[in-house]
Amino acid sequence: MWYPEARVHCACGSTFTTGSTRKEIAVEICSACHPLFTGQQKLIDTAGRVDKFNQRAAIAKRKQEEAVARSKERAAKKAAAEA
Ligand SMILES: [Zn+2]
Repeated sequence: MWYPEARVHCACGSTFTTGSTRKEIAVEICSACHPLFTGQQKLIDTAGRVDKFNQRAAIAKRKQEEAVARSKERAAKKAAAEA
């Protein structure tokens, strides 16, 4: 189903119509409030989310490296035991 005049509601309060497969769409940002269009610097939580993502990625990477180190250690011990 295609709605040529789907209603888009933005968190900033503006609404506009667009073509969509959904009749009603809720968005957090639109051309009326996006800094790119308004030219204003508005703090959107994106930076915080990126930081959190990077932290999680760093933790995951460290855990993976630890797991690899452990398995190498195990393999070395096993090889030593078999030798
Ligand atoms: Zn908006």
